[in-house]
Amino acid sequence: MGALTAGTVEPVAEAGAAVATKVRLATVWLGGCSGCHMSFLDTDEWLIELAQLVDVVYSPIADVKEFPENVDIALVEGAVANEEHLELIHQVRERSKVVVSFGDCAVTGNVTAMRNPLGKASSILQYVYVEAPKLQGPVPSEPGIVPVLLDRVEPVHEVIDVDFYIPGCPPPAPRIRAALEQALTTRAVRLQGRDLNFG
Ligand code: SF4
Repeated sequence: MGALTAGTVEPVAEAGAAVATKVRLATVWLGGCSGCHMSFLDTDEWLIELAQLVDVVYSPIADVKEFPENVDIALVEGAVANEEHLELIHQVRERSKVVVSFGDCAVTGNVTAMRNPLGKASSILQYVYVEAPKLQGPVPSEPGIVPVLLDRVEPVHEVIDVDFYIPGCPPPAPRIRAALEQALTTRAVRLQGRDLNFG
């Protein structure tokens, strides 16, 4: 696992060099609120520039069902909270050159991990769906439809190796832009100063 302050990544293009082929960019949505993706979209007109440099090969905003092979950079929002996330994050690692923990839920667990002190997933579901006042329904269980919760929510680096991190809840758009510009053009991504802030 790389340090929080900096991660070393393989160059996608040498600094200053023209990008010969488009970078294959994936964005992944695990256990998060999608706020990190919304902040990514808040880079506004820079997205047009970015579109000249990358092909978005997998994303919640693209209708792609399978995580593809040969991804250059994968931004991962959210923590690993259920079995579907667990399977996907291993695919992401196997098929991506650079994996980025994108936002506080991915980096620390953050909001998604707030259920961890409450006990195992089964007892939380039992309370929420069966014992809570006015509900008393069955615990949802639809194999293949409702992913099974893991007993503990984990930040991404506890499950796979992560190359670097973008903190923030959500990371502000300028921070996302700065990190991606570095990832696209240099060997090392170094966020500094306020760009290291959580929350
Ligand atoms: Fe949402 Fe914040 Fe988690 Fe991003 S880090 S998914 S904005 S709660």
